[in-house]
Amino acid sequence: MKLTVDRTLCDGNGVCMGIAPDVFDVDDDLVLHIADEIPGDPVVHAQIRQAVTSCPVLALTLEE
Ligand code: SF4
Repeated sequence: MKLTVDRTLCDGNGVCMGIAPDVFDVDDDLVLHIADEIPGDPVVHAQIRQAVTSCPVLALTLEE
């Protein structure tokens, strides 16, 4: 599972962080950070898929 963000699109609104807080973090400067290690937990994987499809600007790409 590989996650990437298009930083030209991401505006730091934090929707993904709200859905998968173990993976996504938006800092005080509205910069998104993605965890280096994606947890193996299937629940987290489901959260990631939901976050990718919920991003309002479609900035996230997931390769399974
Ligand atoms: S939901 Fe999309 S735009 Fe918002 S912080 Fe996450 S990647 Fe960026």
